[in-house]
Amino acid sequence: MTDSKTLDVPTLYIVPTPIGNLGDITQRALDVLSNVDVIAAEDTRHTGKLLSHFNIQTKTFALHDHNEQQKAQVLVEKLLAGQSIALVSDAGTPLISDPGYHLVSQCRQAGVKVTPLPGACAVITALSASGLPSDRFSFEGFFPAKSKGRKDKLLEIAKVERTCIFYESPHRITESLQDMLEILGPDREVVLARELTKTFETIQGLPLGELVTWIEEDDNRKRGEMVLLIHGYREDKASGIPDEALRSLTILVNELPLKKAAALTAEIYNLKKNELYKWGLENLD
Ligand code: SAM
Repeated sequence: MTDSKTLDVPTLYIVPTPIGNLGDITQRALDVLSNVDVIAAEDTRHTGKLLSHFNIQTKTFALHDHNEQQKAQVLVEKLLAGQSIALVSDAGTPLISDPGYHLVSQCRQAGVKVTPLPGACAVITALSASGLPSDRFSFEGFFPAKSKGRKDKLLEIAKVERTCIFYESPHRITESLQDMLEILGPDREVVLARELTKTFETIQGLPLGELVTWIEEDDNRKRGEMVLLIHGYREDKASGIPDEALRSLTILVNELPLKKAAALTAEIYNLKKNELYKWGLENLD
């Protein structure tokens, strides 16, 4: 147990907070939040509600994306003067698609001790229940907001063999899944994990072609906070057609008749157009 006597001073504590279910805060997090001199928070009003729920009176200090570089220096000076500070974000683990990087790096450069507490994090929570390989994975932050950025990102990860994980906004989920279908094809397994730890928690894993249909069946499935997890690349050994060629065919068929797309792909990759045409008939809409 950490109390005011055992709290390390000066130290910056990195403190995860719940991603939905308030029961997911740890005893150690509550002890640190109660006993530090200041809590640096992404949104002091939001954190104020959490603190009042747990009857914690520690004062807060605003540290968000727009002021972090400048305010981090103020916090480092407080630490160097002997204070202890806890860093929290609105939800989950600070620095994971949240502010905190500049503060932590400035603390480490100044020789200030940084102590991380383990706790809630949407990417790890989603991965642990996804059923996708978890021995190696790559967290890619937020899926790009614009279609061009999304497609570039998907082309970059199309042959990555690790599970790739993105945070996603509910406003873009339909378009994002369409872009995934176009670049990765209908057979790639994708898991949508939404509203984790909350009442309407849903974890659905399907081949992309089916996931696109599933999400359109009920608008509620497009709501809330989301994590998208993509199964790593596996070579399509069954067809014997190189994956680059299958991906090109999948993209070209959006603009051209299958016959023409197959002929062009065959020419580019020096393959038999009939085999590509047959694969297209079996695998593409
Ligand atoms: N620092 C947080 C963490 O440790 O997970 C992430 C902060 S980021 C600004 C917020 C994004 O995380 C959301 O848009 C969503 O993609 C994901 N997220 C947060 N809470 C979630 C939840 N309960 N269920 C699913 N995704 C969640």
